[in-house]
Amino acid sequence: MPNLIEIIKNAGVVGAGGAGFPTYQKINTEVEIVIANGAECEPLLYKDVTLMENYPQEIVNGMLRVMEHVKAKRGIFAVKGKNKKSIEAISNWLPQNITLFEMEDVYPAGDEYEVVYHSTGRRIPAGGLPFEIGVVVQNVETFYNIEQAAQGNVVTHSILSVHGDVKNPLTAWFPIGMSYADVLKEAGGATIDDFILIDGGPMMGKVVSDLSTPVTRTSGGFIVLSKETHLAVRKSQNEKSFKRVGKSACDQCSLCTEMCPRYLMGYPIKPHLVMRSLLTTGEYSKTLTYWAQACCECNICSLWACPEELDPRNICVTTKRDTKENNMWLSAEQLQEMSTEVHPLKEYRGVPTKRLVRKLGLQNYTKKAPFQKHIKEPEKVSIPLQQHIGTLPDIIVKQGQKVKKGQVLAEAKKDALSMPIHASMDGIIVSLGERITINREQGSN
Ligand code: SF4
Ligand code: SF4
Repeated sequence: MPNLIEIIKNAGVVGAGGAGFPTYQKINTEVEIVIANGAECEPLLYKDVTLMENYPQEIVNGMLRVMEHVKAKRGIFAVKGKNKKSIEAISNWLPQNITLFEMEDVYPAGDEYEVVYHSTGRRIPAGGLPFEIGVVVQNVETFYNIEQAAQGNVVTHSILSVHGDVKNPLTAWFPIGMSYADVLKEAGGATIDDFILIDGGPMMGKVVSDLSTPVTRTSGGFIVLSKETHLAVRKSQNEKSFKRVGKSACDQCSLCTEMCPRYLMGYPIKPHLVMRSLLTTGEYSKTLTYWAQACCECNICSLWACPEELDPRNICVTTKRDTKENNMWLSAEQLQEMSTEVHPLKEYRGVPTKRLVRKLGLQNYTKKAPFQKHIKEPEKVSIPLQQHIGTLPDIIVKQGQKVKKGQVLAEAKKDALSMPIHASMDGIIVSLGERITINREQGSN
């Protein structure tokens, strides 16, 4: 009988809360503690809360399977204390060896490093991984998918919240490969003409202008906003522009660093020094760029801290890219040598979500995005081969072939970090390439 590693690999389960690291690799270890991360913190996204309220048994069962596999002695279920309904639903299914941990309603509470630190008192080493301190962390959607895999169901859908200037904000399961244009239709369409989509939430999400962008295994939701809003304007700035303004207007007040959640945990990140690298040249400038590497891209520095409304976050993002390209990437050991103790004021510097929502100008979107159990199946899906970290799988289907929902379209590459891709609905393959497009057969739904 296949073990859990094979089952979840064959089912295509990846970390649903981040870059999509293949889960089979993440649990291929032995640790003391398994943590369920349900501390969703992006404003206007409700997918984890929806999952916990509606599928608590499946999530806890998935967690128990992982605990057994990694031989964990105990589990911790992290959820925000304000989400009373989720807490009630989950509490009904928790066995004695899993404790509930209530997180504060601050941003970025759901960051893996924050969840681990607050719930265990342990710090993930800079540049390292949770297993090094005896911990495995998974998002609640991943545990749900693990349980589904154990029941024989592969990953064909992602749960997404759609919010902002849409007629009917909602949270629902959408087939992987469904276009954002079709997802938007399910939410009743945009209520304004000139809008942008922020894919992944207002803080860490990216601006998407191409509505053919497909849902993937790591999609968590998007918000629709007028192009005129302050947030949309700030998030639409290009690299040339945020670098030019950063060069001329940064007064080195260092508030970006003082409010940086990773800096407050003692990691080697100092965005004001990375900003200074824009103002300097030569060796000195180079050494300043090292202070970007531990950035988790949470955006607190740019969208909350900086009084000049500069963009230290994106300066860190582009600096990290350049550091890699120039072979200047520091090793985990080097980063750990640069780490310090947790800042004595850390516990006072959490950013309350309500105040953050006001600062972002999103206070009018107070309505939740309610769960809609069923949506209309789209006419077509275009399923990307690359949906997560790792090597591309090999396509095994042909153009014109009829496929069934759940059927393997591309097989994981052997002896590589790779995941299979499955059909997310019944239909006919109409094109193959970086995306596999399936058209629904006429008359079916
Ligand atoms: S907060 Fe803004 S102005 Fe101050 S150092 Fe950081 S980027 Fe510069
Ligand atoms: S985005 Fe800014 S606040 Fe967040 S980790 Fe990076 S430097 Fe720190």
